[in-house]
Order: sequence, then C-alpha cells, then structure tokens
Amino acid sequence: MKKNKRAELFKENLSKGFDMPTDAVGEKMLREYGAVFVAGNGAVPPDKVVFKNEAEVAAWQKNIKSLRENIAGFEIELQAAALKAYKKAIEEAGRNDLTITPRGADSARRIYAETVTLWASRVNPALLHWVEKGRMTEPEAGNIRSLSPFEQVPEIFKLESKGIFFSKDLSKSIIYSVAPPGTSQHLSMLALDIEEHKSQEVREILAKHGWFQTVISDLPHFTYLGIPENKLKNLGLKRITDDERVFWIPDL
Ligand SMILES: [Zn+2]
Repeated sequence: MKKNKRAELFKENLSKGFDMPTDAVGEKMLREYGAVFVAGNGAVPPDKVVFKNEAEVAAWQKNIKSLRENIAGFEIELQAAALKAYKKAIEEAGRNDLTITPRGADSARRIYAETVTLWASRVNPALLHWVEKGRMTEPEAGNIRSLSPFEQVPEIFKLESKGIFFSKDLSKSIIYSVAPPGTSQHLSMLALDIEEHKSQEVREILAKHGWFQTVISDLPHFTYLGIPENKLKNLGLKRITDDERVFWIPDL
C-alpha cells in the first residue's frame, strides 16, 4: 500500500467531528501520538489532539464511560472497554505465570495538571543544563519559563531542531519522554504504563487483547486500540521496529 493511501485511510478512520490540527505542534502530535485517535471496539478517542486546559479535559472525561479498579495496590481508571481488555490480559498472563501490573498510581487516567507537572519535570532541569553548557543564555531560559506550559511547546521544539534536547537523558526530543501539556494519551483514559514492559511475552499478550505500543521510545507505555494486530494497517497505521519493539503509529 502506498504512503498517501495509508494517510487517507488514517484520516477516514478518525471520528467524524475530529478537529484536524493545522498548526505545526498539532500536526506533530498527530503524527507522533495519533494512533489512539483511530481506537475502536468500544474505545472512544478524543476528537482533538490538544486539550487546552483542565476544564476541557474534565468536560471530555465526564462523558466517557470509565471503570476504576484496584490492581496490584494501584487505583487504576480507564475507559470501560480498555479496563476489561486489560483484565483479560492479566488473566491470560496469570495462566502463564506472568503478571501485568501498573507501574504506579499515575499509570492510567491523568488530569491536565499532571501533564503540566510532568512536562515541567523535564523542561526545568534541561533549561538549567543547557544554560550551564553555554548552549543558551539565562535570559533565553527565563523567557521560556515565563511562558504558559503550552506556549512553551513550540519554543522547546525550535530548540530541539538545533540539537538542544529536552528528554530526561537530554539525547532526544522531549515528546519521547513526556507528552506536551494536554496531549498525553493518558488524558484519553486509553493508555497504561506497565511494569513488565520488557517481557516480550507480556507485550504479546497485551497485543492480543488490543493493547499496543504507539509512542516510539516510551517503553512502558501501552495504548488501547481495541483492534486485532492484523487489522491495524487497515486503519492507516504503520508498524515500526525500534529498540527491538513493535510500535504502531500513523503513516502521515
Ligand atoms: Zn504512559
């Protein structure tokens, strides 16, 4: 299948009212994190790439049927279809003497404020680092600190295009480390960070139950797409192998 054809397929599989981004940040987020927007089989993806604030997230989450459950000591909240599939995967893993546990209390649903805190936890130390290394001046760093979290995003991307990276290890784009505020798949309640992500068997069981890796380099992170793996190409997704992992991302 040709790339253009797959891009068309992807667009056809977005929800009818989907707000197609027209700015560079939104387009990048759709390319990098966009697999979730074609999730199906009971999953309801958001109809936009970026939630602008807490009120937008709360208004959207309120209308989605979610379920909460204590799993391995963590209170997990996910869309109903996603949690049911996760529990089936846990059962199947159990029959093979494996466990599939959340990494922590913030492994499933998040609110807007958490995405802001996580973003700042990468941006602020990186600013200190790059000023110390002489790659930017203190006034330039101060200028970025003075912006609202989402206004910081295009500025950070501009610096990254010059090799000034903001991921935790400062070697790659921040988007492979944390999501820009309001863009995290965790806001959609269709994402889950898994402790046993290094186990290929665990990854295969999750995939059998509709949970796939869709954010390159975010290794513990899984996304509920609800679709069998052999049908993902029909949604306009492409299969990428990176770090010996399989990722499914939009072919845009
Ligand atoms: Zn995650």
